[in-house]
Amino acid sequence: MGKETVERRLTRSSRLPTFQPSNSSVTVVSHPLIQHNLTHLRDQRTGHEAFRRLLSQTAGLMVYEVTRNFPLKRVKVTTPVAKTGGAVLTRPIVLVPVLRAGLGMLDGILHVLPHATVGHIGLFRRKKTFEAVKYYTKLPNHLDRSAVILIDPMLATGNSAAAAAEVLKAHGAKHVSLVCLVASPAGLTKLNRDHPDLTIYTAAVDERLNAHAYIVPGLGDAGDRLFGT
Ligand code: URA
Repeated sequence: MGKETVERRLTRSSRLPTFQPSNSSVTVVSHPLIQHNLTHLRDQRTGHEAFRRLLSQTAGLMVYEVTRNFPLKRVKVTTPVAKTGGAVLTRPIVLVPVLRAGLGMLDGILHVLPHATVGHIGLFRRKKTFEAVKYYTKLPNHLDRSAVILIDPMLATGNSAAAAAEVLKAHGAKHVSLVCLVASPAGLTKLNRDHPDLTIYTAAVDERLNAHAYIVPGLGDAGDRLFGT
């Protein structure tokens, strides 16, 4: 086995320390620019202004991977020179940030997908039980024929993402991807169990959750770091 192959294997396994993917689809987006930004996002010295910029930029970069398998249909197009064939996306795209930290990834994604429509799901988590409680839902009415991208930077217990996916499906969504920045093995296991049809994109799979259900090493409270609260 060549040196490069060994290094690749080690890198991959060190990013996925305990999680054993089974039937769900989890992609760790390991592009160097994303890993560079993630390291600065993790750094406690990064203030809210830089954090906001980095999170938005990283989300925009991750979209290329999230949309990689979106279906296309063939169309005809007339250039100023000749008629030719082209391809356009088959499904409308709906972005759904989970309030409030999901808002930090929204602008970066809209920069790449300016034609997307945007829904919102508001959830907070109970301090002791970490249960996700819904307090707001506003969604476009064409979810059934759309590619829905659920946006939440921290997949910790998985309770919020699972609750949000449930809301989306209750509104007819059939093709849902989740984009997050950091995932925990517990969160991936929960989503894998509750929503095996969801495709998940993350920049890292961290070690574990602490007693407060924060991701370790993680980056702290994404909402607080984003908004300076
Ligand atoms: N939410 C956050 O913002 N950070 C965590 O580590 C877990 C949940």
